[in-house]
Amino acid sequence: MTRVLIIGGGIIGVASAYFLADAGFQVLLLEHGSSLGGLSTAASLQALRAQFNDPVNIACMKESIAFYEQFAERLDLPGYDIGLRQQGYLFVTTEQSEVSKLERRVAYQHAQGLADVEFLDQLDLRNRFPYLAREALAATFRQRDGWLSAHEALLGFRQAARRLGAEFRLQAPVLGFLRSGDRVTGVATPAGNLEGDVVVIATGPFAAVTAQLAGVELPVFPVRRHRLVIGEHALIPSWAPMTIDHDTGAHWRPEGPGAALAWAEPEASTPPSFDVSPDPHFPYRVLEGVFRLGPFWADVASTLPRSQVFLHAGQYAETPDHNPLVGPVPGVPGLWVNGGYGGHGVMMTPAGARMLASLLTGERQSDDNPFAPDRPSLSTGGHEQMVI
Ligand SMILES: Cc1cc2nc3c(=O)[nH]c(=O)nc-3n(C[C@H](O)[C@H](O)[C@H](O)COP(=O)(O)OP(=O)(O)OC[C@H]3O[C@@H](n4cnc5c(N)ncnc54)[C@H](O)[C@@H]3O)c2cc1C
Repeated sequence: MTRVLIIGGGIIGVASAYFLADAGFQVLLLEHGSSLGGLSTAASLQALRAQFNDPVNIACMKESIAFYEQFAERLDLPGYDIGLRQQGYLFVTTEQSEVSKLERRVAYQHAQGLADVEFLDQLDLRNRFPYLAREALAATFRQRDGWLSAHEALLGFRQAARRLGAEFRLQAPVLGFLRSGDRVTGVATPAGNLEGDVVVIATGPFAAVTAQLAGVELPVFPVRRHRLVIGEHALIPSWAPMTIDHDTGAHWRPEGPGAALAWAEPEASTPPSFDVSPDPHFPYRVLEGVFRLGPFWADVASTLPRSQVFLHAGQYAETPDHNPLVGPVPGVPGLWVNGGYGGHGVMMTPAGARMLASLLTGERQSDDNPFAPDRPSLSTGGHEQMVI
């Protein structure tokens, strides 16, 4: 039986363990930390959408959302609840010049088989989303987009993987690779060496650093991102969708009786870190950012007790074309990667992890892999992608 070692126990590594075990591989996952999912996965806004503007991402997100919708059945975990809330994703503009762009995007998404995206005009917005500013001119909306608990999803994947024989080791940092000629044949950990036929790098923002241990460069660079969580507040409409300012990128969604807010501001790449310090000014900026489209945020901000504000930071594992790396690492036989998901790792987990397994079994051919780690767009930069 082919033995696969997975380095990294975030949602991508753990879901990969499941799909690989399900495909008949013997799997051992090694996690640096004392718990699974404690790094980027824990910092995530945990949102998912199929509203993308390219066919590959639309297809992957459709597949992933369908998987999450049937999570308990697919993993044979009766009654298992991942907290999926399909309250939709709403991209709103106040710019006249953007209205026709949104209309064209919806037409394109329909042509790609995403028939349930709606284009909403100003009147629709007033009727359906009265919390929006009067300046809101138009929007796109898809009800089946939403959010979930990444933690519960990760634990569900682990439970299903364990049942299939996968093993998980915590506090097991990989410090280096075992080699036989060019080939990677295992990993070195503080507790000793472990052999494997295939080793998968799933270390999120650490992917490039991990690959360097094997003497190879991977184009994955970490970028700090923030999340602000606000506890219970009566003025926050708990029924609202993820509401995104299409013109600035500021966005928020309900989180129980409160909300989670984020804004992918331009930031330089920084080295990967297990402890990312947040910018203490972020709460002021993001509250001002969401106020533009949601005037109620001014009242929320002025009545918000400090004890109800929770600021977190993590890192996106970005790539030059904003798409992940899934497949064999060029030039190092035996070494594979599943990472570089930027701000889309939770939503793309099922499709990405299944793709890894189907490439490893040979069910999917390497020339049918849009996320191949040696694709040309990684050196040229790809099309413009929405980074939210
Ligand atoms: C603020 C923020 C908001 C986000 N919002 C969303 C969102 O709404 N929707 C969405 O889909 N995505 C979102 N993302 C992105 C998403 O969180 C990531 O894409 C996803 O969690 C990546 O998972 P991962 O398993 O690749 O990485 P991680 O969760 O970072 O896991 C990597 C693991 O590797 C381990 N590791 C590192 N080095 C080693 C080593 N040498 N040996 C062993 N283990 C090692 C780490 O300890 C870690 O547990 C957001 C990210 C951030 C920061």
